[in-house]
Amino acid sequence: MTNTTDRSSTDNSPEEGKTVKIVADKHKCIGAGTCVVIAPELFDQDDEGIVEVLAEEPREDQLGVLNEAIEYCPAQALLLARD
Ligand code: SF4
Repeated sequence: MTNTTDRSSTDNSPEEGKTVKIVADKHKCIGAGTCVVIAPELFDQDDEGIVEVLAEEPREDQLGVLNEAIEYCPAQALLLARD
């Protein structure tokens, strides 16, 4: 049960050697802009307010803010994929 790794304590810490990718479902996005406010370095919105991912493969130090954006997206349009 106990996580014995000494990596970041965030739930979405990438495992060794795994690539983490941000996936945004533009069909689900309602253009609320919450992700842009929380993580402007990772997300932007197009002319219609739909999310655009600026950095598909986030750095490890961006995972905290990324998790926050995922959590607060009102449309649950954001998720993290691992290869
Ligand atoms: S927070 Fe969710 S609904 Fe709002 S712009 Fe971002 S992806 Fe779209």
